[in-house]
Amino acid sequence: MRKNKIITLIISLIMVLFMIIESFAVGVNNDKKKLNEVTNKIKKIQSDKKENKKKQETVREEIRRLENEIQKLERELQSIENNVSKTKKEIETAKNDLTRAEKDISDKKDILDSRLRVMYENGNVGYLEVLLDSENFADLMSRLDMIKKIFKKDIELLKYLKQQRDLIEAKKKSLEVHKSELISLLNQMKNKKEKLRVSRGEMERVKKKLMKDYAALEAEEDELVKLARRIEEEIRRKQSSAKYVGGKMTWPAPGYHRITSPFGYRIHPILKTKKLHTGIDIGIPLGKNIVAAQSGKVIHAGWLGGYGKVVMIDHGGGIVTLYAHNSRILVKEGQNVSRGQVISKCGSTGMSTGPHLHFEVRENGKFVDPLKYVRP
Ligand SMILES: [Zn+2]
Repeated sequence: MRKNKIITLIISLIMVLFMIIESFAVGVNNDKKKLNEVTNKIKKIQSDKKENKKKQETVREEIRRLENEIQKLERELQSIENNVSKTKKEIETAKNDLTRAEKDISDKKDILDSRLRVMYENGNVGYLEVLLDSENFADLMSRLDMIKKIFKKDIELLKYLKQQRDLIEAKKKSLEVHKSELISLLNQMKNKKEKLRVSRGEMERVKKKLMKDYAALEAEEDELVKLARRIEEEIRRKQSSAKYVGGKMTWPAPGYHRITSPFGYRIHPILKTKKLHTGIDIGIPLGKNIVAAQSGKVIHAGWLGGYGKVVMIDHGGGIVTLYAHNSRILVKEGQNVSRGQVISKCGSTGMSTGPHLHFEVRENGKFVDPLKYVRP
């Protein structure tokens, strides 16, 4: 009976142990699944951003095209307007010519009328007198002929003047037709221009909307990238098999102990905004040795955004140290390093104003003051 109880107890313990291991694995797998989802979302957003940029380019192209068309129309409008005012002037000139022609005709008529009137008022006396003054028949005939010639010339001149007037009248009419044609063309073009303006306005609105969407996508992407980093940290923390050996770490910059910028909130030297300084900056000349503050496993060795060339070491128990802005990295991801081992050479890569070591300590992904672990 006792033996049975012990066996049952052992089996139960083994089962509990399996469950713990199982739940641990499930936890990490869940995190990995979550990370995968977030990464996919980021990829989707990045492709949406590309798509959005393409659309923006198309819309910008369309706006440029409309702009060119509007400008072309404006030039044409200007030329037609010039034409209209030129035609108006020509009509004005034709009107003046017409008035003058009418006056010439009426003057000529007046002369003719008065000549006739004089002759009529004097009855045939004057006329006869002229004729009777003739010295002989031949003279009489020549005088008659002269009078006839004068009348004929006057009438011909009058006829000519009337023809001239009719020509001017016709020209004026055709100019007026031309003017009204030009004005109707002008109105058509003005309508077209208005339509183009409306289209351009719509395109501008589409462009603004796209830009707003783009900004929203970027904000969302930033959030997701942050989330992905947190999940990554979580996975690292859970996967970290070894326990942190504890105790003080060694100073990561042998021979150089000047802290040029402490941990905590400060005005960022490049971004000029108040930001958490996530580690300490140590002044070291270019190319000097950087060492592992504690033994552990290299979990990152390479470029990481503003950090430049970075080494990250997992020391177990959720403790990770980070060494940023290196000029050269001497270790590889997955490599085990010992406390005090040279891991890189000081540099100024990434967002940096000059050679220095930016040293971080993270507890379960949370930034803590490295001076809790190291002493200069
Ligand atoms: Zn720093």
